[in-house]
Parts: sequence; C-alpha cells; structure tokens
Amino acid sequence: MGMNIQSVGVVGAGQMGNGIAHVFALAGYDVRLNDRDAEQLDRALERIEKNMSRQVSKGLITEADKADALALIKKTPDIAEAAHVDLLIESATEREDVKMAIFAAAQPHLKPETILATNTSSISITRLAARTDRPERFMGFHFMNPVPVMQLVELIRGIATDEATFDALKKVVVQIGKTAAYAEDFPAFIVNRILLPMINEAIYTLYEGVGGVEAIDTSMKLGANHPMGPLELADFIGLDTCLAIMQVLHDGLADTKYRPCPLLVKYVEAGWLGRKAGRGFYDYRSGDPVPTR
Ligand code: NAD
Repeated sequence: MGMNIQSVGVVGAGQMGNGIAHVFALAGYDVRLNDRDAEQLDRALERIEKNMSRQVSKGLITEADKADALALIKKTPDIAEAAHVDLLIESATEREDVKMAIFAAAQPHLKPETILATNTSSISITRLAARTDRPERFMGFHFMNPVPVMQLVELIRGIATDEATFDALKKVVVQIGKTAAYAEDFPAFIVNRILLPMINEAIYTLYEGVGGVEAIDTSMKLGANHPMGPLELADFIGLDTCLAIMQVLHDGLADTKYRPCPLLVKYVEAGWLGRKAGRGFYDYRSGDPVPTR
C-alpha cells in the first residue's frame, strides 16, 4: 500500500527533535511538535527560528521559506494531537522505558495507517516495534546532530518491517533533501557502532592521564583531520546519550571492549552532560569553552 505522508508528529523537542521539526517544515510537511516539558517546547521554537535565520543569512533559504516553514510547525503538549498524523517520529530521551511509554500513550490516537519511527541512537528497533500494535509499520529513522546540517539519515528495519513502510520512508528522506544509509537492526547501527567506541576510548585516554582534554582534541583534529575533537563531540552529543549508547553496545554485544569508561559515568552522575547542561569535558558557561580537566 503506497502512502502519501503529509503530516508528521515529533515527540521530544530536545536538540534532535527541534532539528527534525525544522527540516520537515522546510520540506513542506505539517509538523506537530510535542514535549512533556512546555518550556522545552518554547525553547525548541526559539532555536528553530534562530537556526532558520542563520540559513537565511547564509543564503541557503529565503525569508519567505522561513516564514512558510515556521507557519507549518505547531507546538502541542497533547500527545493525542501529535499522534494523529501520517508519520510519528519519537525523539525523546534515550531510555527504553521512556520510548515504550510514549508509543503506548500514542497508540489509541494513531491513524490506522500511521507509520511509527524512532530516532533512537542504539535501542533495538525490533524490540520497540514488538510492543506496538504495528511492528510492520515501524522503523528506525536515525538523524545526525545537528539535523539541519548533517546529510545522513540511517534507515533501520526491524525484523517485521514491511516493504511499503521502508519505501515510504526512503521517499521521505529524499523529500527532506537528505541521503539514506541502510543499517541492520543491531546495537547502535552503523555510525554510532563505530563513533562511540572511539569517543569512549578518548575518555579512557583522558582517564588514564595519557593526555588532557585539549591535547586529546587537538590530536584528533590536527592528527586525524576530524572537524571536532572526540571530547568536544561527546559534549555536543550529550554525555548521558553517549553513556546510554555504550551501555546498549555493552549489553547487546556482550563484549568487554564496549565497557563505558568510569570517567564518563562520573560526568553523567555529576550532571555535567555537555553543552546542553553548560558543562561537560568543557565548561561553556562563560562563553569560550574551558577544559574541565
Ligand atoms: P535531549 O535530552 O536534548 O531531548 C530529549 C527530550 O525528550 C527532552 O526535551 C525531554 O523533555 C523529552 N521527553 C522525555 N520524555 C518525554 C515524554 N514522555 N514525552 C515527550 N517528551 C519527552 O535529547 P536529544 O539529544 O534530542 O536525543 C533525543 C533522541 O535522539 C535520543 O533517542 C537520542 O539517542 C537520539 N539521537 C541523539 C543524537 C545526538 O547527537 N544528541 C543524534 C542522533 C539521535
């Protein structure tokens, strides 16, 4: 069954959710953005406005594109409204219980044909899908951060995902001007399976005193031509998310090479979650980032 996707619900208006709403609105979709935290919804709209203004000043979009897109985004604290759409994308906190609860709350309000997708970085698509009433219409739709800038979307089929759903989401990726890579449903898929162990190793390098924060980031920027150092990147992703992904790799693949660095655990325990918290491997509170070790 072919399906024409016009309306998109985004649940979770954090760093990723606001970017997802941004790109869908610019592509002309009707977007309903939901978060359980009303202030987070307001902040998300401010961020979208700001990021679109930056695109205008760079000549990537026009003022009219921006105005049209903003008019297509509706904030809704009501999951019932966010769920009555053609495509529902869950992008809330990286915890399986949180995601399960969101799909359960959305279920009574879905259209019969609604496709469910999750932006999870690491959690099993098959397991999330199995708890819904439509595992055949469920997929992993994994964006990269920052969503308006990064070209890739990983598309991940669960074991039960049908071809029509896969085809529909492939078309959506083209429609929003991105490029898809197809990954099988194994812990952390492709990008994070490779990226997170590198970040975790950088944290071990710091933990064992091989180098300080600046030495490690400078080494990988100038020595491996990475645009960002691994610790800077960890702060950008969010240290809670980094830890959650390492735990999923460790649990799911049962290999000690994926054990999360104890220093990463300590930063998360401290609430030093990276940029979004104002402090992580760098302190961002006074403007210029200052290494915290
Ligand atoms: P975030 O902490 O910035 O935002 C999470 C949002 O979810 C918060 O606004 C929170 O209020 C909201 N939320 C929590 N429970 C909710 C509920 N029951 N209903 C509605 N909203 C709820 O996190 P993020 O970085 O935006 O990550 C979101 C998802 O995207 C995670 O699954 C993460 O793994 C994935 N992801 C993150 C990155 C990254 O680089 N940060 C990249 C790709 C994918």
